[in-house]
Amino acid sequence: MTQSNEQNPNSVKRVLIVGGGFAGLNCARKLAANPNVRITLLDKNNYQQFQPLLYQVATAILGPGNIAFNLRGTLRSHPNVDVKMTEVVSIDLNTRTVDTAEGQHYEGDFLVLAAGSQANFFGTPGADEHSYPLYSLHDAERLRSRILAMLESADRDPSLVAKGALNFVIVGAGATGTEMAGAFGDMLQSSLKRGTRDKAYKNLAVDRGQILLVDGGHAVLSTFSPKAQTYAAKMLEERGVQIRLGTRVKEVGSGHVVLSDGTRISTHTVIWAGGLKAASLSDNLGVKTGHGGRIDVEADLTVPGLTGVYALGDFANIADKDGRPLPQLASVAEQSGKWSARNILSDIAGKPRDPFHYFDKGIMAMIGRNSAVAEVGEHRHELQGAIAFAAWLGVHAALLSSTRAKIEAFLEWAWDYFGGARGDAVLDRAEELQINWNDDGEERISAVSPASSQTDKTS
Ligand SMILES: Cc1cc2nc3c(=O)[nH]c(=O)nc-3n(C[C@H](O)[C@H](O)[C@H](O)COP(=O)(O)OP(=O)(O)OC[C@H]3O[C@@H](n4cnc5c(N)ncnc54)[C@H](O)[C@@H]3O)c2cc1C
Repeated sequence: MTQSNEQNPNSVKRVLIVGGGFAGLNCARKLAANPNVRITLLDKNNYQQFQPLLYQVATAILGPGNIAFNLRGTLRSHPNVDVKMTEVVSIDLNTRTVDTAEGQHYEGDFLVLAAGSQANFFGTPGADEHSYPLYSLHDAERLRSRILAMLESADRDPSLVAKGALNFVIVGAGATGTEMAGAFGDMLQSSLKRGTRDKAYKNLAVDRGQILLVDGGHAVLSTFSPKAQTYAAKMLEERGVQIRLGTRVKEVGSGHVVLSDGTRISTHTVIWAGGLKAASLSDNLGVKTGHGGRIDVEADLTVPGLTGVYALGDFANIADKDGRPLPQLASVAEQSGKWSARNILSDIAGKPRDPFHYFDKGIMAMIGRNSAVAEVGEHRHELQGAIAFAAWLGVHAALLSSTRAKIEAFLEWAWDYFGGARGDAVLDRAEELQINWNDDGEERISAVSPASSQTDKTS
């Protein structure tokens, strides 16, 4: 048990939550059961985005509406929860007050920081400007339009293939990059496969599309077992994904990337799945931040040295019972959200707070149709193939917030699985059609290919 923060249990307490993702939303829902607590939930979007399925929006398996849920709708049955769509721009942790981009000011008896994370480009030149991160609904919709813009352009003018139209580079072979690569491999095969009568792009062949997965480490899915890594690599290769390990992306341009081994590849679609850091709000909080700019928290999820301030989910460095940092996972965020609510209620009741205990259900990643890996439970019972694929569908459907969302996602998955055209292949961001086909006036344009003759090197 850790120290308590004494409050008068009879007065109404105001809890201010910044961020309505897995962590903030679960905190709000649990607190809402107590009528003596008034909760204000601030989020820059009016929806919760379900990040684990972003890659399915980017590859047109699901539509945006399948993975984004209106916060007011989700919380409508709780009269003591007030949702405000607003961007928080500064926070005073000592007074538990926040200021918003619209010039408003909010204050709480408790402050819960759950602003999540954002892409970390690690200072890679050009990555911020030219790559396509995959960390928000906006990112996923933009990327979907970009992929479709490339397919449409190459179909209209096949000479653009030599300018890299169908070269796609994915940076980072963790779960995000691997899931994206696998789903994208399936998408290209179903859109372009030779001999498929109903393929979407009649003038393009699948061997013209190239997906390159690049990672500085020595395995795909580095947090999984070696057996799962081998399986994942094999499944990706079966989908035409070329894996380049031990290699970093050194520079991203509007029409190329340069790899750490000097290879220069013509591409107009660099997908950034290279890492995360805490949301930018953590930059100016005036507290020491830890790995990835995240807020170090005590075992009970409070921020050290402050009264009534909690940090949760991806925004916080939360340690497990052995002091090791917990990963940035939806289940960690969800459980820390509920746990912080419990500790806030203890604070109000004048009871001691409990240290957070994470219930580890395991990890899983989808590689494509009928192919997934799962390591279930604390003891990591390994599953692969169709059974892991089914487990993945079940677990992700269960995490969706409403019955309607679950049914709709299952219908879309079934439609995709049984070979229907991808219903959400909609190019709705016209700006993604603005492509610089003559990147930097460079003449060294080549296609990605396992045959090294088709790549060139910068000296
Ligand atoms: C592509 C991808 C795939 C993933 N796949 C999996 C998976 O398969 N399984 C798994 O367990 N986990 C997965 N994760 C991780 C998981 O999604 C995160 O751990 C989880 O979303 C973290 O929840 P959170 O509430 O801390 O943050 P978020 O869900 O990111 O929510 C943060 C909220 O804060 C809001 N916000 C941020 N800044 C401000 C501001 N200044 N003002 C107001 N509001 C703000 C945001 O709009 C957002 O709604 C994945 C993540 C990504 C990016």
